[in-house]
Amino acid sequence: MAKIKKISASEILDSRGFPTVQCSIMLDNSSVVTSSVPSGASVGKSEAIELRDGDKGRYFGKGVLNAVSNIEKIIAPELLGKEPDLFAMDKLMIDLDGTKNKSKLGANSILAVSMAVARAQAKISNIDLHQFFSRYFDFQEFKIPKCMFNILNGGVHASNGICFQEFMIMPIKEQNFFGNLQIASTVYHNLKKILQQEGYSIGVGDEGGFAPKISSENDCGTKRALDFLLKAVEKSGFVPGQDVVFCLDVAASQFFDEKENIYTLKDKKLNSDEMINLYENLLSSYPIHSIEDGLAEQDWQGWKALTEALGSRVQLVGDDIFVTNIDLIQKGIKNGISNSVLIKPNQIGTVMETINAVKLCKNNNYKTVVSHRSGDTCDSFIADLAVGAFSEEFKSGACARSERVCKYNRLLEIEKTLADKI
Ligand code: PGA
Ligand code: ZN
Repeated sequence: MAKIKKISASEILDSRGFPTVQCSIMLDNSSVVTSSVPSGASVGKSEAIELRDGDKGRYFGKGVLNAVSNIEKIIAPELLGKEPDLFAMDKLMIDLDGTKNKSKLGANSILAVSMAVARAQAKISNIDLHQFFSRYFDFQEFKIPKCMFNILNGGVHASNGICFQEFMIMPIKEQNFFGNLQIASTVYHNLKKILQQEGYSIGVGDEGGFAPKISSENDCGTKRALDFLLKAVEKSGFVPGQDVVFCLDVAASQFFDEKENIYTLKDKKLNSDEMINLYENLLSSYPIHSIEDGLAEQDWQGWKALTEALGSRVQLVGDDIFVTNIDLIQKGIKNGISNSVLIKPNQIGTVMETINAVKLCKNNNYKTVVSHRSGDTCDSFIADLAVGAFSEEFKSGACARSERVCKYNRLLEIEKTLADKI
């Protein structure tokens, strides 16, 4: 059995050009594994803390040299000389940090190590990363999850005034991911052509989807965005609702006023019931399969009403409200909130806790959507996690830009390996 010989960390840049943490583990058999962590922009209030240096003289205070030093000076000495063991080492790091939200050592430093430990353990066992994750689950048959491709960006990921954050397509026509990825790419490029023909910018937002200015002072551009998606699907020769369905990430916490209990959509001020009505109207006009964060993270009462009203008709995904935290997911299950959970390892800060969150969902018939962050790197870890944890769905932004595409490419690779084995 190989043991950990060296752990090193560095400050690298994410896709938005801000610092993030990378960690490498060298084993005493000389093999090396490396992992890097992503970073969000529409961050839930209860997420684990991303440690930033705060030194305004470097990267506007966003440097991560303290997180890097925590890995090398505090975490590494505890792990050196030991055999990689994901759950034991995650527990050790949680204890070493000692806070509820990992604010002492930083979720960015802890997760970077945790991901590298998972890779090291898989490597020692001579198995693929997704196979390694599957050991924590009772399922047998691997399946590539259905993917949501974010082809039109709004909210805090773009500066186009579109209120909802993500307009995604999910191709469902083909049985395999190879075929569905081709559909996504065709629709993406046809959307680009349509936008160009109509005189809109084809610049992209943080997650690689187009970010045209189709909103106005008193209109969020929601229906226009969905109409563009319809047009792009039809131009590509596919049938909306049959070959391709739509998924929204509203990210409603971003425009919720907690004191007033009001959602502000341009000149309209809506309460939760009116938001639910709005979704009901959208559902009757567009082939929407999934709505993520339709209401804000603080609005538990509204979420309950939303789930009662629409939970049997549409997938309702909780992101900010659960932040991959088993206590919050448990509370959601108990209270009948949503029917699906977004899974982001860096919201909770260890791979072990992420796996436990997926398990909790599975045991309670909640679907999971394993997800990237808007600031991401070319680490494809979550693709293996999604397959190995038997997640039904997955999202990694548009089918363009390397930090998004590397995850989809990894899914292709896994699919091919699985097919070759049959
Ligand atoms: P974030 O957004 O990575 O900017 O937080 C992604 C999401 O809300 O799903
Ligand atoms: Zn979200």
